[in-house]
Amino acid sequence: GVKSGLAQMLKGGVIMDVVNAEQARIAEEAGACAVMALERVPADIRAQGGVARMSDPKLIKEIIDAVTIPVMAKVRVGHFVEAQIVEAIGADYIDESEVLTPADEQCHIHKHTFRIPFVCGATDLGEALRRVSEGAAMIRTKGEAGTGNVVEAVRHARSLQSSIRLASTMSDEELYTFAKDLRAPYHLLKETARLKRLPVVTFAAGGVATPADAALMMQLGCDGVFVGSGIFHSGDPAKRARAIVQAVTHYNNPKILAAVSEDLGDAMVGLTIDSNLQGGRFAGRG
Ligand code: PLP
Repeated sequence: GVKSGLAQMLKGGVIMDVVNAEQARIAEEAGACAVMALERVPADIRAQGGVARMSDPKLIKEIIDAVTIPVMAKVRVGHFVEAQIVEAIGADYIDESEVLTPADEQCHIHKHTFRIPFVCGATDLGEALRRVSEGAAMIRTKGEAGTGNVVEAVRHARSLQSSIRLASTMSDEELYTFAKDLRAPYHLLKETARLKRLPVVTFAAGGVATPADAALMMQLGCDGVFVGSGIFHSGDPAKRARAIVQAVTHYNNPKILAAVSEDLGDAMVGLTIDSNLQGGRFAGRG
């Protein structure tokens, strides 16, 4: 449909978190395929705590006016009125995001009723297909946003891939049982097994901070990468942004990866993902 077509256009790209129009211009200049407009990047949401909500529509509109590339904005899980508002102001995509404080612990947004495409996070194949079933046009790994630590994004990408590989070897009888185990709709699992990939565009997100991280996620089979706190919390955002775009384009070329990784200044300070993680684990919410 139209919504999945819009998501297909992002393939091979980098989507960058920006908190104002100036950062949005830097992201566009660096070659971002889209920007995520938000008031606080995940590292600051972790550091500051409190309830994290949809951004001020004025901020989102300023960012829409500042760039020609698509603009995404985050709404809380299950908060369909925040989604109505973000659609009304003319954003291009909605991220129904666990990085914000969940508004509904039972239900995600019924995304089929919106014209605007949604991206949703997932940690495994069952979760991804539940979101697709609700109407998500794009899936991203949850990772652990705001940590600068790629380990959870790797875990989620590998989990998706190994389940898809397993499904692709199964008989129909086995697929019914696997669908039940995954708590996923059979028809979407069957389609995934046939395609040997998710039926929607699948990006990496949550902890990507360096060109090497971005290329790692691409080599693990992702269609593109979200970078949240990793760019504008680094020493030289414009240079790092360009380097990450180059790394995603040339993800299989170690010589280019080496060249673009050189002399980028300080990466964002990372966080250890353990029981003391500031702000808790976002991926486990719900
Ligand atoms: N992600 C978040 C942020 C949640 O709040 C929840 C639960 O409400 C889930 C995922 C899990 O939802 P599901 O079991 O439908 O995948």
